[in-house]
Amino acid sequence: MTDTPLTFSNHLFKKSIAEKISMLNDQLAGLLLVMIVALLGYKKGAVNLSGLASGIVIGSAVVLIGGLLLFLPLLTFFVIGSIFTKYKYDLKEIKGAAESEKGRRGWSNVLANGIPPLIFLLIWKISSNDGFLLAFFSSIAADTSDTLSNEVGVLSKKDPVLLFYWRRVPAGTSGAISSLGTIAAFLSSLLISLESYIISGGNTRFLVIPAFCGFLGSIIDSILGALVQEKRVCPSCGRITENKSHCGFHTRHIAGVKGFGNGLVNFIMSLAAGVISLVIP
Ligand SMILES: [Zn+2]
Repeated sequence: MTDTPLTFSNHLFKKSIAEKISMLNDQLAGLLLVMIVALLGYKKGAVNLSGLASGIVIGSAVVLIGGLLLFLPLLTFFVIGSIFTKYKYDLKEIKGAAESEKGRRGWSNVLANGIPPLIFLLIWKISSNDGFLLAFFSSIAADTSDTLSNEVGVLSKKDPVLLFYWRRVPAGTSGAISSLGTIAAFLSSLLISLESYIISGGNTRFLVIPAFCGFLGSIIDSILGALVQEKRVCPSCGRITENKSHCGFHTRHIAGVKGFGNGLVNFIMSLAAGVISLVIP
């Protein structure tokens, strides 16, 4: 007998027929849950049609590969991310910091946040190396941390500070941080890591590492947002945006890499959070 510190996947892989049947039930219940959640999300205006379709694909893949239990952190991310996107939406709109389409997320949002954890889950299933399960949780912790830091942070009374430029900019500017957003980032990362801890059966690494890496993910997002994300300026209202048009006018490129949008930044930070969790000794 070799002594392995992490035995969660070993436990999941050695199954009797009865256990396999229960896993099948688990997956069917999970798929049903994915459908219900996705349709509710669509009905409540959390996603548009492309977000609905891509959400069903990602959610179903997670359920089929990982089972119902491992769908829970993703569900938590989707539910609290959607609630806080809608929270005080009118105020965010006045500040010019609201998500477009009344906060309905589309396929690029869903895939940018959903593909990284799915990759780690798939590698975990194939390799049965529990490090990749940690990466899966870390990646979702980063998604949640980043979304909450943005959606709560923009409600900060003080304007946020743009990283590396160290000056106050309007709320919602990519790469800007506020203390309120930072607290939200930490707490939401902690929430996902608590789920990870419980699902792992009380393994401390599953508490500490996703909490740390998830929080780090939201910082990576701000760094990329400040340094490389495309920034354009609206000739009418002067707002910095990444959109090609604003107030009905064509915007002008002022900084960052052209075409390097929010979706790509989110994808990289979510992937990075997982990869960093893999290299922590
Ligand atoms: Zn404008």
